[in-house]
Amino acid sequence: MSEVNHVQHTCQAIVISCMDFRLRKFLRKWTQSNLDEAGFDRVAIAGGVKNLPFVLDQVELSYKLHHICEVYLINHEDCGAYGEEGTFAKHKKDLLFAKRIIRQKFPKLKIVPFYLKLNGEFVNV
Ligand SMILES: [Zn+2]
Repeated sequence: MSEVNHVQHTCQAIVISCMDFRLRKFLRKWTQSNLDEAGFDRVAIAGGVKNLPFVLDQVELSYKLHHICEVYLINHEDCGAYGEEGTFAKHKKDLLFAKRIIRQKFPKLKIVPFYLKLNGEFVNV
């Protein structure tokens, strides 16, 4: 985070993903390319948007404290928190539902959901 951002105590975005260690290097690469300069809050939670009440709380805090403009929701392939039910269709459904609920509460935020494959590919949903 740059000195200016530190002083202003604001950042551009919040990034919410599963805690799965297999995602770490892909997330680091993606955030370095897309968000590094502007800074971002980082939330890692098993299942990503699966625990929507928790996710909503984190978005609200990030919005109030750091005045974020963007929310990135990242679920992933072969997620243990979803187990057998974790198909692409299920993740897509949950991601789009989370997007809708967050948008209702924070209409000004840009909300971008992704399905991250274990080969590092970020799939738009
Ligand atoms: Zn997972």
